Amino acid sequence: MRVVLLGAPGAGKGTHCKRIADRYQVAHLSSGDILRRERAAGSDLGRKAQGYMDAGALVPDDLIVEMMTKAIGQAAGGYVLDGFPRTVNQAEVLDTSLAAQNAATDMVVNLRVSDNVVLERITGRRSCPKCGTVYHVKNMPPKTPGVCDKDGTPLVQRPDDTEEVVRNRLQTYYRQTEPVVDYYKARCTVHDIDADGDADLVAAEIFARLDALARK
Ligand code: AMP
Repeated sequence: MRVVLLGAPGAGKGTHCKRIADRYQVAHLSSGDILRRERAAGSDLGRKAQGYMDAGALVPDDLIVEMMTKAIGQAAGGYVLDGFPRTVNQAEVLDTSLAAQNAATDMVVNLRVSDNVVLERITGRRSCPKCGTVYHVKNMPPKTPGVCDKDGTPLVQRPDDTEEVVRNRLQTYYRQTEPVVDYYKARCTVHDIDADGDADLVAAEIFARLDALARK
C-alpha cells in the first residue's frame, strides 16, 4: 500500500500517519522527522536544512528528493508519506520514479484544517526528545506538566512551533504545497477529510477509506 497524506502544518499528518503505519503495517516516512534526525546527527544534509527549517521555509527540492527517494527505496512493504511531496516538482519526481517501476500511489488523503486550529494546535505542541511522544498543553497534557508520562524526560517545543514561524509555515503551505492538492486532483481521486475535529473521528474516517482500498 502506497499512501500520500497531504495537509497544512498542524493538520495532524504525523499523528494519523503513525496510526496508518501501525494498522496497515507500512513504513511511516516523515520528511520532517528524517530532517530532524539528520540535524541531530550533525550530518551535511542536516546542516544544509537547518536555516530553512528554522525560518519555516522549504528545504530545496534536490536535497529532499534525494533523501526521500532513498527512504522510499527501502520501504519494500509499502509506506505512508508524511510531509512529502510538498511542491509540485516533488510530486512530479515521485510519480516519475513510481512509473519507472510500473507502480503508482494507491491513495491520496488531504486533511483540511482551518488556520486558527493550526495555530492553537502547533503552538501548544510539546514532545519528548527521548521517545518522541507528542503532547498538547491543553488538549493532550501529560500527567505532570512539562514531563513525559512514559520516561519522565522534560518535554520540549520544536523551535519552528512558535507563533511567528507557524505563520511563515502556513504562508509557505498556501504558496507552495496547496498546489500539490490540485496536482493530484487533476490525476486521481483525492480524499478530502475535515481534520478540525477530534483525532479519533478523523482516524476512523481515514481508516474507512483505506479499509475499502485494502479490500480491493
Ligand atoms: P514537518 O515536520 O513536516 O512540519 O517539517 C518541518 C520542516 O522540514 C518544514 O517546515 C520544512 O522546512 C522541512 N521539510 C519537511 N518536508 C519537506 C519537503 N517535502 N520539502 C521541503 N522541506 C521540507
